[in-house]
Amino acid sequence: MKKNIYADNAATTKIDIEAFEAMKTYLLDDYSNASQAYSFSRNSKLAIKNARNIIARSINAKPEEIYFTSGGTESDNWAVKSVMLYEGQTKHMLTSSIEHHAILNSCVDIELLGHQVSYISVDDKGCIDFAEFENLIENDVKLVTIMLANNEIGTIQPIKALAKIAHANGALLHTDAVQAVGHISIDVQDLGVDMLSASAHKFNGPKGIGFLYVRQGTGLKPYMNGGSQEFGMRAGTENVASIVAMAIALKNNVANIETNGKHLFKLENALFDKLTDENIDFIVNGSTKKIPGNISLSFAGVEGEMLLHRLDLMGIYVSTGSACNSKDTEVSHVISAISVPSAYAKGTIRISFGHENTIDDAISIAEALVKIIKN
Ligand code: PLP
Repeated sequence: MKKNIYADNAATTKIDIEAFEAMKTYLLDDYSNASQAYSFSRNSKLAIKNARNIIARSINAKPEEIYFTSGGTESDNWAVKSVMLYEGQTKHMLTSSIEHHAILNSCVDIELLGHQVSYISVDDKGCIDFAEFENLIENDVKLVTIMLANNEIGTIQPIKALAKIAHANGALLHTDAVQAVGHISIDVQDLGVDMLSASAHKFNGPKGIGFLYVRQGTGLKPYMNGGSQEFGMRAGTENVASIVAMAIALKNNVANIETNGKHLFKLENALFDKLTDENIDFIVNGSTKKIPGNISLSFAGVEGEMLLHRLDLMGIYVSTGSACNSKDTEVSHVISAISVPSAYAKGTIRISFGHENTIDDAISIAEALVKIIKN
């Protein structure tokens, strides 16, 4: 029997087996509420502390700079809304036109509060327009939020340079690193960011858990109000099992980051080579400075939706853009922003390999695409 091929790892990943096994202990044995004072909670408390240390180390942060959240969406909402919510005077914030909707829709709320949001354009590779950024940052900006790597095309932004300019102009810099953490090396000190969002299910951890890194001294206010968990910064009973699993998944991904990266680029090349050999008319979207494994392809004269469904029938799972946009049949905001030529734009799919994918998977996907397109 032919095996199915999952190639939508930018939407979510399979859980790391060690992370999965570790969860059981904190669901079946040490299942206490970690905030209780009795001895039964000692192991849960210790597990959270260890997980925070592991996560902090993996991005070169201090443990007390890591706040556990329910995932990328909450981390993004927290960073954007908590900074802007407490600004009495009208302030300005900068973002890009290709952010995830967790950022873009948070910005809509910020505009409703009366603040101004500017959406910086990108070039045809998805790279921030630096001149536009430098021009806008002079204008009473409180917060800049630019993603580290794009979820549809994989392009990596020059966050270190953007953070320097933001700080020189008195603004904070947040980066949505949901697609980058666990996939490329990240050092928050070197990047110079004030806040960074991450989500475990994008790096082989469980769904519904993530973290927000907040540089000490940033002065961020809580977003979730309630109990005093997470140093009084994020209320809610701690999701111990998922926190533990997230740390294990991140540690394992970081330990293999170079090997995985090389493997994923090999898969990309195998797929491109096969399509080229078969004279398929396609464009590879995004920059060459990108996260490994995430490829956006646009084909001439076909619909991405049709490709997705035909591949599905062949047991191959890819997406047309981001998972959050999968109900839209129109061209995504990212594909529009990078001005993919109209003959190709509607024929866009995203293939995102994970480290479990093989060269055979890459070639099988290419062969399936050739078959569909040539028919
Ligand atoms: N930011 C980016 C860049 C993403 O790709 C995603 C998920 O697709 C999110 C934020 C939202 O993360 P979560 O699914 O953990 O809420």
